[in-house]
Amino acid sequence: MTRADWEKSYVSAESALRDAGVENADLLKLEEVRVRFMGRKGALTELLKSLKDLSIEDKRELGPKAQGLKASFDALIDARKAALEDAGDAAALEKDAIDLTLPAIRPPKGRLHPLTTTLHEIARTFQLMGYSWAEGPFVEDERHNFSALNIPEGHPARDSHDTFYLQGLPLLLRTHTSTVQIHTMESIRPPLRVVCPGRAFRHEQIDATHSAIFHQVEGLVVDENIGLADLKGHLQTLLQKLLGASTKTRFRPSYFPFTEPSTEVDVKCFFCPGTGCAACKHTGWIEILGAGVVNPAVFKAAGYDEQKWSGFAFGVGVERVAMLLHGVPDIRAFYTNDLKFLKQFDENLL
Ligand SMILES: [Zn+2]
Repeated sequence: MTRADWEKSYVSAESALRDAGVENADLLKLEEVRVRFMGRKGALTELLKSLKDLSIEDKRELGPKAQGLKASFDALIDARKAALEDAGDAAALEKDAIDLTLPAIRPPKGRLHPLTTTLHEIARTFQLMGYSWAEGPFVEDERHNFSALNIPEGHPARDSHDTFYLQGLPLLLRTHTSTVQIHTMESIRPPLRVVCPGRAFRHEQIDATHSAIFHQVEGLVVDENIGLADLKGHLQTLLQKLLGASTKTRFRPSYFPFTEPSTEVDVKCFFCPGTGCAACKHTGWIEILGAGVVNPAVFKAAGYDEQKWSGFAFGVGVERVAMLLHGVPDIRAFYTNDLKFLKQFDENLL
């Protein structure tokens, strides 16, 4: 090869490299360019190889020129490769980007069941009046559920309690929370003020106003010279706290074996102006709880001196209060776990 031929090859390689489009090549195209110039029969390979055909002087002069072209070729390829890698990283980052300004997905928030909030509200009102909180077992014997409460065997009141008995055992599911009164009197000496909130069970036909499981807040006060007037004051305080300061109450004579005298307490209907509606069964009054002065027979059974001590007891039906407070017409709504129903109640409502 002559020097002139070599120089012609050099110029054509140089211009081919300029036109190869390396600046915009993707990885595949870049490899193609590399093979075209630096492969076994590549233009640059041939150029470098053909230096050996030149004279020593030409080699000395043109050798560095060829090496220079090779170096700029390598630099061009490396720069494009690096640019492509950077772009790839950037694209991957873009794809997996986390936008920290987006609002977070909130986990669903639990809340208290409306019966729980009602029960808490009733119990808390009594706690503010100095009552302590007591709980007892769901499974009871007949003594705590009946006989110690002046309901001896054969007493007609037992029939009205529709009791669940445990098969083969002398035990039952408590039919009221009055059982906790007996437990309390067995373990604490008077004077005492105690509120006993909890669940009770009766073998009821389930309908819009009856459930086999229900909740009560039972109360018991034992002291010297305690009577009906104290009972009225405490219950009026509760009802005015629950239903509003202007709530009117009415105490009607009633009968419970464990209290004497006994009373049922009504509040003035708050759905109608006293003229009568379905909620008050057209009487203008709504029955809300039962109460009375503790029967001395109950003190006697608990080992309290019935000559010295007197007291009163009451039982508030939690479902009944919740239904009235929230205008819920069917007790079963509280037990179906329907989120649409339950979500309406905010624990701050009560
Ligand atoms: Zn009414």
